Amino acid sequence: MAHVVVVGAGLGGTIAAYELREKLGSEHKVSVVNKGSRFHFVPSNPWVGVGWRDRAAIEVDLEKVFAKRKIALHAQGAKRLHPAERRIELLDGESISYDYMVIATGPELAFDEIEGFGPEAHTQSVCHVDHALMAKQAVDKLIASPGPVVIGAVQGASCYGPAYEFAFILDKALRDAKVRDRVPMTFVTSEPYVGHLGLDGVGNTKGLLEGELREHHIKWICNARVDKVEADKLLVSEIAEDGSVFKSHEVPQAFTMMLPAFRGIEAVRGIEGLTNPRGFILVDPYQRNPSFPEVFAIGVCVAIPPVGKTPVPVGVPKTGFMIESMVTATVHNIDQLIKGKTPSAIPTWNAVCLADFGDSGIAFVAQPQIPPRNVNWSSSGKWVHLAKIGFEKYFLHKIRSGESEPFYERLAMQALGIDKLKKVKIEPEA
Ligand SMILES: Cc1cc2nc3c(=O)[nH]c(=O)nc-3n(C[C@H](O)[C@H](O)[C@H](O)COP(=O)(O)OP(=O)(O)OC[C@H]3O[C@@H](n4cnc5c(N)ncnc54)[C@H](O)[C@@H]3O)c2cc1C
Repeated sequence: MAHVVVVGAGLGGTIAAYELREKLGSEHKVSVVNKGSRFHFVPSNPWVGVGWRDRAAIEVDLEKVFAKRKIALHAQGAKRLHPAERRIELLDGESISYDYMVIATGPELAFDEIEGFGPEAHTQSVCHVDHALMAKQAVDKLIASPGPVVIGAVQGASCYGPAYEFAFILDKALRDAKVRDRVPMTFVTSEPYVGHLGLDGVGNTKGLLEGELREHHIKWICNARVDKVEADKLLVSEIAEDGSVFKSHEVPQAFTMMLPAFRGIEAVRGIEGLTNPRGFILVDPYQRNPSFPEVFAIGVCVAIPPVGKTPVPVGVPKTGFMIESMVTATVHNIDQLIKGKTPSAIPTWNAVCLADFGDSGIAFVAQPQIPPRNVNWSSSGKWVHLAKIGFEKYFLHKIRSGESEPFYERLAMQALGIDKLKKVKIEPEA
């Protein structure tokens, strides 16, 4: 019997546990270590931030569904991984051992890297449902007492889609509340241009997003480094190509929501051979760690280099389709190893995204993720908003049922009409 332990039950870890359970026979054991027993659908957090969803709508109690699927849940969370000993130290002092481990612990949010930044200081966040609920209270205050708004993503961020989403969703919420005319809005981003998205743009994302920002009366500052946040303003340096400060801005704020830079969680940071200096897990093309061959990693916790040099550091986003491809490849490769074969599945890491703007949205497909590409497609319209709502319902229904599904693959192949977007490439057996 092999024991496979997934650490982290977010978007990647939960579907990995379901796929492992389906792929491996009942003679093998699948366990999950998570901080808590509840799954949150992170892509819905921007809606929670304006009160269009509450916690219950986007949360799933994993205890019952895991028990039904015969997946053991350790909800204490991991204190430290000990890959040399094939052991996970839990936060309550217990330890569990494994034959294979899949790390899916997502990001630690690096708010502390900027003075005055984060939900414990002067800005809001939608990265976690708890933050999004706090942001909702701040939105209510903003509606009661309108003032300037800043939305965006700081230096080193890698997740830009939700920043654009939240800008347009908040714009819609403020229009609905009839106070938008008293709220100047500025989009402040480390991207070198609007619509770069950490991917050097996809299709016409530059044109589409600039157009949307103009149409919604949202000004923007690119190449932005946030130096400090104060209760009523942000101190922002606009950085030139040569790295010098081109312009200094004092941007007034009554409400700010900016995506932070990410880093690996404490339980994995600084483990020689496992992580890079920011604590992201090093993997080979099979999602396998080169130093610890029984360790795989999926999702936001994986180390991926940026697409190119930019005046302000900009990371590569790790989105649903890409994460799903990492999951399917990892499950295939662990199954191969259990059967005494060599890993042969390589995830394609394509980017397929729907970004909701409250009453419309943009969609894009990048294949491969890094340009030049074979597919470099973007589109916009009301259909994106409706597709994203339908997708959320479908995803949560499947998570509640304990069924693994090629969610993003279906979206790419059916909703977006693309029939050749493969999640994984299987190498022929040697
Ligand atoms: C606001 C927002 C919106 C997004 N919207 C989209 C979108 O619309 N489409 C898209 O494709 N992508 C989107 N993304 C990107 C990406 O799909 C999500 O970030 C996704 O949740 C990443 O999945 P993950 O499994 O890597 O991490 P997560 O979903 O964050 O899961 C990490 C898990 O690890 C657990 N964990 C943390 N520390 C420990 C520990 N010490 N021990 C045990 N468990 C631990 C956490 O509790 C959590 O359950 C969005 C990201 C954000 C932040």
